[in-house]
Amino acid sequence: MNIGRDSMTKLINGKEIAQNLRNELKNEINNLRSKTGKVPGLAVVQVGNVAASSVYVKAKTKSAKEVGIDVIDHHLPEKTTEKELLEVVDTLNNQNNVNGILVQLPLPKHINEQVVLDSIHHDKDADGFHPLNVGKLSVASHNDENLLIPCTPYGCLIMLKGLGINLSGKDAVIIGRSNIVGKPMAQLLLKESCTVTIAHSKTQNLKEVCSNADIVVAAVGRPEMVKGSWIKNGAVVIDVGINRIEINVNGEKKNKLVGDVDFVEAEKNASAITPVPFGVGPMTIACLLRNTMIAFKNAQKI
Ligand code: NAD
Repeated sequence: MNIGRDSMTKLINGKEIAQNLRNELKNEINNLRSKTGKVPGLAVVQVGNVAASSVYVKAKTKSAKEVGIDVIDHHLPEKTTEKELLEVVDTLNNQNNVNGILVQLPLPKHINEQVVLDSIHHDKDADGFHPLNVGKLSVASHNDENLLIPCTPYGCLIMLKGLGINLSGKDAVIIGRSNIVGKPMAQLLLKESCTVTIAHSKTQNLKEVCSNADIVVAAVGRPEMVKGSWIKNGAVVIDVGINRIEINVNGEKKNKLVGDVDFVEAEKNASAITPVPFGVGPMTIACLLRNTMIAFKNAQKI
């Protein structure tokens, strides 16, 4: 099956789509404020000072405030014990002005991440990682408006739907089976009636598996692993990977962000493709804000 290729490959602009989504959220939050006198609250918990985490927390906080979400910031010292962190989460679970709780990963090694993530009340699970929400996603027959869905795959789905193609019956190959991207992506595309294949590190003949796909979602974490020749003519490519590589510019070593797909070559075959950066990345944050608003609406029974 061929999705149909225009004369030019469409570059899927995640930055712009995420901005549109944030504008919609801002309007909706404004309306909710008029209706209820309240706004959604997002608690952002960071433990320690990992530089990348600080960058993510700053970006999430800024975006949340921009759309009118109230941010409750908890920056805890590196030496915080698991028990102390669980107490903070417990307090937030019981705080009425907190609708979403985000614990930034990674946590220091002496804290069990899964224990902490599972302690977040499932109604306040802004990331959509709680086993109950994972279960709801897998049993729901369609993408129910009040589900809390993992942000990155949901962002990918919004981008795919934005292309205006009929997803039903399409062959989708997802490379990667992580709990945060690959598996929930498969659930979402299954609900759209795609025929879904999940490929992973033990998959044989990955090239062959990909080359029949109408949709390829790459979530591996290996720079430019997916080659252009693996992409069927007219396929849609969503590149989730974020890899920092070192390149040489005029004898000087510089860092560059690349995806899991060899963009330059894949673009020649694809009908539409996401770039890295400014593809999937901005969608993840926008979907986190969306989950916070959904949790608020669920709490207000709207
Ligand atoms: P992960 O390490 O948890 O999972 C990687 C998956 O890739 C595994 O399921 C593994 O089976 C598979 N894999 C590894 N080697 C493979 C191979 N040779 N062939 C086929 N499959 C192979 O990673 P993750 O958390 O799912 O993230 C994947 C990538 O997406 C990373 O680069 C990460 O930085 C990026 N990411 C981006 C965003 C975003 O907002 N854009 C969000 C989450 C993750």
